[in-house]
Amino acid sequence: MKDSYEREIDYMRISITDRCNLRCTYCMPEGIDWIPMEEILTFEEIQTVCEEAAKLGIRNIKLTGGEPLVRKGCADLVKMIKSVPKIAKVTLTTNGVEFSKYVEELKRAEVDGINVSLDTLDRECFRKITGFDRMEDVLTGLEKAYDLGIPTKINTVLKPGLNAAAWKDMVEIAKEKAIAVRFIEMMPIGNGSGIASISNEEIRGNLERLYGTLEPDLNRHGNGPAVYYKIPGFCGSVGFISAIHGKFCGNCNRIRMTAAGEIKPCLCYSECLSVKEALRANGERTTVRKILEQAILRKPKAHCFEEEQGITERKKMAQIGG
Ligand code: SAM
Ligand code: SF4
Repeated sequence: MKDSYEREIDYMRISITDRCNLRCTYCMPEGIDWIPMEEILTFEEIQTVCEEAAKLGIRNIKLTGGEPLVRKGCADLVKMIKSVPKIAKVTLTTNGVEFSKYVEELKRAEVDGINVSLDTLDRECFRKITGFDRMEDVLTGLEKAYDLGIPTKINTVLKPGLNAAAWKDMVEIAKEKAIAVRFIEMMPIGNGSGIASISNEEIRGNLERLYGTLEPDLNRHGNGPAVYYKIPGFCGSVGFISAIHGKFCGNCNRIRMTAAGEIKPCLCYSECLSVKEALRANGERTTVRKILEQAILRKPKAHCFEEEQGITERKKMAQIGG
């Protein structure tokens, strides 16, 4: 369905847990007050939300977290959502550290794609950013996914003083492999607040100085606002998600749901509408659908990341799902 600004909303990001096996400095370095287990939606409840969302025009679902692969049975949930009529694609975003364990299961569940978050190819820098020495595990998972033919993208967030120069190594992954390496600008949410956002235009300029003119890649690689380019001689592409320096709210197509069943119209604002009570009151499917509809209609025109005093969201990114 369309929201009140005529944007077609067809994409929903669903956080299935707020737990995570990493402690990324810009996301949740010290952990958080975990949502009590009984507050977290069951797989059956998540499936019901997807069924009702599909009736409103949601076609693409992204499972996220926290780290979605720390929740037991994540691949079963992929299968459950894939069986929902009118849902076209179910994808997953993961930090990749346990990915190689689950990649075959995910393939069997017919997952439509995986985004792996990886900010550096330097082992020590990886440890500094995430708190753990697990970079090799992520790379093993990536190789396996690639060999199994699962469409895979890499998401990289650059941080001044930590991995600002990692763009150079990261794009090299796309040289021999048909993978999209995407740069996401740091957003002032949770621990990202107060960290300078390196502009994607700057990264694009750096790449053009190194490789020559980047040609727009018009293939559709995902559900969202990334803009893609081909680097001369590379198999894969480079993508830019420029939430700060290239505000794309006019084309926003998404809503989000937290692990506790709160529907978020926009990442920037704390406003959310809960579906949990309706889900747990038997026979309240119509109410669930009405709440989803309300959340879509209450999507604001734009975020206000450029004026931090206007941001009302206080949750960490791991509590929202990114
Ligand atoms: N654990 C999974 C992962 O890391 O992919 C899924 C959840 S994580 C919150 C989703 C994405 O949000 C990751 O790619 C992470 O790099 C990104 N992220 C976290 N905090 C951010 C921030 N302040 N600005 C931009 N991206 C952020
Ligand atoms: Fe965990 Fe992902 Fe947040 Fe890192 S970015 S702490 S992996 S949820």
